Amino acid sequence: MDSYPYELSGGMCQRVIIAMSLCSNPKLIIADEPTTALDVTVQAQVLELLKDMREKNGMAILLITHNLGVVWQMCDSVMVMYAGKTVEYTSCRELHHNPIHPYTWGLLDSMPKLSSNSGEELATIQGTPPDLRLTGTCCNFSNRCPYAEELCRNQVPDLKELEPGHFVACHRQREGSRLLRGGVKQHE
Ligand code: SF4
Repeated sequence: MDSYPYELSGGMCQRVIIAMSLCSNPKLIIADEPTTALDVTVQAQVLELLKDMREKNGMAILLITHNLGVVWQMCDSVMVMYAGKTVEYTSCRELHHNPIHPYTWGLLDSMPKLSSNSGEELATIQGTPPDLRLTGTCCNFSNRCPYAEELCRNQVPDLKELEPGHFVACHRQREGSRLLRGGVKQHE
């Protein structure tokens, strides 16, 4: 109680923040990158603590993260966002087994896998995110998407329920006409 923040490790500081956020018995905790900068052991401890608190207090956690490993471990539902827009929304299980949006494919492909060869080049999403001041007239991912076509550059795609409980915002993913993952090479 008498310690200053600089006297605590990163993991201890995270625990203090979690304890402070639980003091008022909230129904919802918004945890923005709660494990960034922590080593994997401390990360696992912090996630376990959050899960434990969630069960005990019957609260919900809105987790904001770039770490898909954390998502698989913690979440029931996932909303994938790109440049401020929701591009895909479904259950965690469904996203893991059946991702639909090209940006989600890019994210998943860029995760290193245990089965990868050590010399194998890690896949990346080419290009950079758009200038947010210039968005609103097209699909925000169109300057990086290997599947982009004319419509993508001229119209914002709506978020639509493509399969029961599975929402996606992509002009080229529609009923009766679906893109196949890997149908276009990422590096051309
Ligand atoms: S709308 Fe077009 S550019 Fe956007 S993700 Fe779908 S295919 Fe790619």
